[in-house]
Amino acid sequence: MDNPFTLDTIELFHIRIPLRAPFATSFGVTTDRETILLRAITADGLEGWGEWAGDGPGYSYETVQTAWHILNDYLIPLALKAPWNDPRSAVERFGAVRGHNITKATLEAALWDIAARRAGVSLRAFLSAVTRQPTRDRVPVGVSIGIQPSPEALVEQVGRYLEQGYRRIKIKIKPGRDIADARAVRQAFPNALLMVDANSAYSLDDAPVLKQLDDLDLLMIEQPLGYDDIYQHSLLQPQLKTPICLDESIHSPDHARAALALGACRIINIKQGRSGGLTQAVEIHDLCQAQHVPVWCGGMLETGIGRALNLALASLPNFTLPGDLSASARYYERDVVDPPFVLNPDGTLSVPEGTGLGVQVDFGYIAQISLRREQQRG
Ligand code: MG
Repeated sequence: MDNPFTLDTIELFHIRIPLRAPFATSFGVTTDRETILLRAITADGLEGWGEWAGDGPGYSYETVQTAWHILNDYLIPLALKAPWNDPRSAVERFGAVRGHNITKATLEAALWDIAARRAGVSLRAFLSAVTRQPTRDRVPVGVSIGIQPSPEALVEQVGRYLEQGYRRIKIKIKPGRDIADARAVRQAFPNALLMVDANSAYSLDDAPVLKQLDDLDLLMIEQPLGYDDIYQHSLLQPQLKTPICLDESIHSPDHARAALALGACRIINIKQGRSGGLTQAVEIHDLCQAQHVPVWCGGMLETGIGRALNLALASLPNFTLPGDLSASARYYERDVVDPPFVLNPDGTLSVPEGTGLGVQVDFGYIAQISLRREQQRG
């Protein structure tokens, strides 16, 4: 890669975008989503976009406020001060800041977008070239369903999504809303690809409860134990037939290596934000691929900007399980990209083919839903 560029301007938009319907997990209920969109502009006028793929402090220590601070006071000055040869060098340059992975990924995404645009290809084609791996133009997708008022209401929701063509159903569980919910869905839909996500709501003492899920032919149980735990999951996995998938506790290739070596999981949910960006997400993908451990792409209710990035990532070959990559209309009445993402009849989303992220950003709508903006120039 030898096509260096210099960034001239980086602008942040703190947006609040309404969700179509409230989303409930073991953390609580979300009715709209606040996040940051980042626009980087090169000296020769090319634009790249990134989206902060986080949530509140119940998910991670990174919040919109910490991201605003770390971007403005550390990462943006680092990004503006010297030219870029390769977006992969962001890992080293931003290494001056420890942690803050979701925030680093926001800026790194814009670098990938720009690098692909400069090469005149889609981000998918660009990733394929830099990783020397084949990629797919469509990605099978699943849907993630929050905790519903009752198992009956849940079954009804699941039926609706299966009818829309989603290929895999994930239901959120928590103590007291687990076995009965999962069993009701399994009985109603014996052949559905079904999994549960516990978002760290259990402890090792709950192993007998989790073992009851073994009869329900689930694809996996996602992150049952501590959000930063690997070791206790390695004690739980041998007690279960159902594969454990780690999500919250995998922040780096080192974490993935440790989890696989300890037998803490048999599947990994890769989120590019939590992994510190696309570069490290690809590294985790490659590491799992070498050990025949399947991965899938998690979601953080991204707008079309983050969704486009996720789709490019999920086009890599070891993303063999459907990801949490729903159509725009699953979460938003109106997306920040035009046209919005729609589900193909075969239960896939198409990876954008335009250059870079390949989406048309609706700048007017972003301006309209921005609570504040801030810009720095090189
Ligand atoms: Mg999860």
